[in-house]
Amino acid sequence: MTSHRTPLSALERGAPFESRHIGPDAADQAKMLAQVGYGSLDELTQAAVPEVIRSTELLRLPEARSEADVLAELRSLASRNQVLQSMIGLGYYGTFTPPVILRNVMESPAWYTAYTPYQPEISQGRLEALLNFQTVIADLTGLPTSGASLLDESTAAAEAMALSRRVGKVKEGVFLVDADCLPQTVAVLRTRAEPTGVEIVVADLSGGIPEEAAERGVFGVLLQYPGASGAVRDQRAVIERAHELGAVVTVAADLLALTLLTSPGDLGADIAVGSSQRFGVPMGFGGPHAGYMAVREKFARSLPGRLVGVSKDADGDQAYRLALQTREQHIRREKATSNICTAQVLLAVMAGMYAAYHGPDGLAAIARRTHRYAALLAAGLRAGGVETLHGAFFDTVTARVPGRADEVVALARQDGVNLRRVDADHVGMACDETTGREHLAAVWKAFGIDAGAVDVDELDAATGDALPDELLRTDDYLTHPVFHEHRSETAMLRYLRRLSDRDYALDRGMIPLGSCTMKLNATTEMEPVTWPEFGGLHPFAPAEQAEGYLTLIHELEDRLAEVTGYDKVSLQPNAGSQGELAGLLAVRAYHRANGDAQRNVCLIPSSAHGTNAASAVMAGMKVVVVKTSDNGDVDVDDLHAKIAKHGDELAVLMVTYPSTHGVFEEHITDICAAVHDAGGQVYVDGANLNALLGLAKPGRFGADVSHLNLHKTFCIPHGGGGPGVGPIGVRAHLAPYLPNHPLQPAAGPETGIGPVSGAPWGSAGILPISWAYVRLMGGEGLRKATQVAVLSANYIAKRLEPHYPVLYAGPNGLVAHECIIDVRQLTKQTGVSIDDVAKRLIDYGFHAPTMSFPVAGTLMTEPTESEDLAELDRFCETMIAIRAEIDKVGSGEWSAEDNPLANAPHTAAMLGREWEHAYSREEAVFPGSVHAADKYWPPVRRIDGAYGDRNLVCSCPPVAEYDE
Ligand SMILES: *Cc1c(COP(=O)(O)O)cnc(C)c1O
Repeated sequence: MTSHRTPLSALERGAPFESRHIGPDAADQAKMLAQVGYGSLDELTQAAVPEVIRSTELLRLPEARSEADVLAELRSLASRNQVLQSMIGLGYYGTFTPPVILRNVMESPAWYTAYTPYQPEISQGRLEALLNFQTVIADLTGLPTSGASLLDESTAAAEAMALSRRVGKVKEGVFLVDADCLPQTVAVLRTRAEPTGVEIVVADLSGGIPEEAAERGVFGVLLQYPGASGAVRDQRAVIERAHELGAVVTVAADLLALTLLTSPGDLGADIAVGSSQRFGVPMGFGGPHAGYMAVREKFARSLPGRLVGVSKDADGDQAYRLALQTREQHIRREKATSNICTAQVLLAVMAGMYAAYHGPDGLAAIARRTHRYAALLAAGLRAGGVETLHGAFFDTVTARVPGRADEVVALARQDGVNLRRVDADHVGMACDETTGREHLAAVWKAFGIDAGAVDVDELDAATGDALPDELLRTDDYLTHPVFHEHRSETAMLRYLRRLSDRDYALDRGMIPLGSCTMKLNATTEMEPVTWPEFGGLHPFAPAEQAEGYLTLIHELEDRLAEVTGYDKVSLQPNAGSQGELAGLLAVRAYHRANGDAQRNVCLIPSSAHGTNAASAVMAGMKVVVVKTSDNGDVDVDDLHAKIAKHGDELAVLMVTYPSTHGVFEEHITDICAAVHDAGGQVYVDGANLNALLGLAKPGRFGADVSHLNLHKTFCIPHGGGGPGVGPIGVRAHLAPYLPNHPLQPAAGPETGIGPVSGAPWGSAGILPISWAYVRLMGGEGLRKATQVAVLSANYIAKRLEPHYPVLYAGPNGLVAHECIIDVRQLTKQTGVSIDDVAKRLIDYGFHAPTMSFPVAGTLMTEPTESEDLAELDRFCETMIAIRAEIDKVGSGEWSAEDNPLANAPHTAAMLGREWEHAYSREEAVFPGSVHAADKYWPPVRRIDGAYGDRNLVCSCPPVAEYDE
């Protein structure tokens, strides 16, 4: 009997999480290895990864733990966070996420595992949801065109500053910022202004624009509405004066306040920016939340970030898609208007749904209640002899307590309420949707007022509102039916289901997008995000209340430093693009500290991602493009020539590794050495880290700085186009120039470049995802994941090679973690375009690979380690079947105009009509092994993008237009 014993210790360990995360099991890996021609994963990666960069030692990470154990660890970390009632304000407020939205959007893989809607036919649900968001923003701000989200309020203000300079009449002059703007916004503006030569002047604009500023010239003005102090001011006169000076005026506005107050558009503003956090999105210790920007019509085509618009499909039916895609940085590069790529789609969807669920009257009621609490709070303070600063306010009251601010804040904390210490003499307190009478009592008590003696209802009867009459909102908003039809939970539940059913996300099948790493977002990793102990913290809550968070943050920083070979990591940047900017600013600061201020040339290979060039421009650098040689590698001769040419003006080389072509370039160490020898720094774009983790470390093979995309390599879901986290790792000499934060000294070095996000640790609320991934996998698991990712890409390359040319390969003819399938020759021969192939993939139940990046006319395919062999085979067989279809067009069996590729995707509606095509209905909608029962039906036919760009409609269209 005893011989049949399995040791308890082995049983206790359970199945390693690695076997859940990695799709192909050992037997499948063996089959795939056989196809690729190697005996083991180690053999394959030894052949694929150049020896000069390969790490030999194992990652020094804590051993992998089971899902149950990791959840228990996270529970224990969560319990070390204290969630007090936050009355800190400053752009972050308590909010009640309607559970129907929490569970069916934020916690629903149908929403959070979707990709950016570049394939609009399979993204109609989230495009409609984003259009709702844009409508909310446009209506409430009174400005006609809103984008589909920016990264946070502070960076949105920085984007507005850049926009003002770009489009305004005044080309010189200063950017004038009202002193009552959020302090973190002012700090982010300073970070972003300095490298581009913009001067920021902060002044009290409540009495108008100071003459000395007017004399210097003002290209832009930023006002906060209501102000950080809570004050609600009529800014019409300031705006008018600013316009006389030729300035573009931006108002940073609070959406909840705007349900009661005159809109920025009506006040005369040109741009409105802000945050939609308090529309149902948890504070999450700083993020993620959707920032917004809305503009006057004349600036619509200069808007940064993504814009959803209305167009029509091949049947002339209304359909949504991203408008003006050619404005995006991935195409415009150094001429881009901003570097925003990943934004905050999931959170914008939540905010839009919150508005749809409450409707205009519900939102106004929440605003009125919030305001009443603030009005009573102030009245109670005044009755108790405490001076308050402003007579007109919305939700925030500032009290003057000479010398006593610390004491008041400490007393309130004892009663479970966080107040804002403005300075030694002033305390700020903000009410929100979650404020109750008990919180007013706690605050009064902290000020030394006998709260028991206050009869709140009596006080209520005796206290008027504190909103100025001349600013009360009189126009209607959110009149579109979508904000009136989904008020019952049943209706909202079904609306959410209906929209998500239109979309193709990872919960339906593979999304083989090269460069985007659409891997598993495990449920265990996702769970802690919506626990109140992670969701409920204000970013400026005292550090001692965030012990769990800070432990998790520091452990994640250290572990990311270990896996990348860098010395120090900053988690502040809230997208890859922001990491790029932060990293380049660190390089810039380093050169300046060394007396090399003239070093401002950024070398970028021509195949680089568009954000690279856009970020370099934002960092005040001059972009010089390095050629790509025929085999896809950096053209080393050209690189040497450019290095020589720019001499001591060389600041940095920005290069992606493995390359954007998905190849391990063998001479990367030589490239790094050449740049270093010339006094430059090396920035390795870490978006492709999924090919390196556990096998090689950029910080060891010659790079000085990298950003990582935690929403690619480290399992944060794409959310349909955000959230993301773009931390940077740096070698020790750049560590003094990492981002920091004026309101949280622990967030970065004192000598740092300033903040690149509004919150000290950016989108802290989703860091538990990446922390959990590393904890679940351990060093060996991460390495295995990379090996299987490389195996899967090579497996696809080998299987498809007989049918399509596979572009570019590295050592031993192997690709890294993605491969480029070339359709250009076939297009030339048959007229079947890359678009036709991408859309035909929808009929087969797939999301297309990355189209035309980095090479026009090709498909870049990245399977990741999470797809199992059956799904990889389904993809390969589909691509092979599509090749056979292309051949039928080529041979003339199908005409160039009427074939399943040209007409793809095919909708269910088409089946209900008379069928007049040269191929059958079955061939159209059930090609290959597609089963009727499992069929994904695209809701619309192919969308005419150009039509929509000519007729730009970016908010919910009138219902009449839905009629035929
Ligand atoms: C995704 C990506 C980026 C930009 O990252 P975001 O998080 O979308 O801002 C930069 N470079 C490369 C190569 C990428 O794939």
